[in-house]
Amino acid sequence: MANVKKEAPELECDQCGTTSELTPILTYVHQGEEKHVCTHCLPMLIHG
Ligand SMILES: [Zn+2]
Repeated sequence: MANVKKEAPELECDQCGTTSELTPILTYVHQGEEKHVCTHCLPMLIHG
C-alpha cells in the first residue's frame, strides 16, 4: 500500500486559538520557547 499519510500535528495559534486546519500556522522560537502564530496574527506580532 502506498498510502503514506503524514501525521500533521494539530497546531494552535497562541494569539487567537485558531488551528492549522483553518489557517496556516507558523512556528517560531522566542526566548528559547517554541511559539505558534497564525498568518492573521503575525502582523500584530511584528508590530508589537
Ligand atoms: Zn491567530
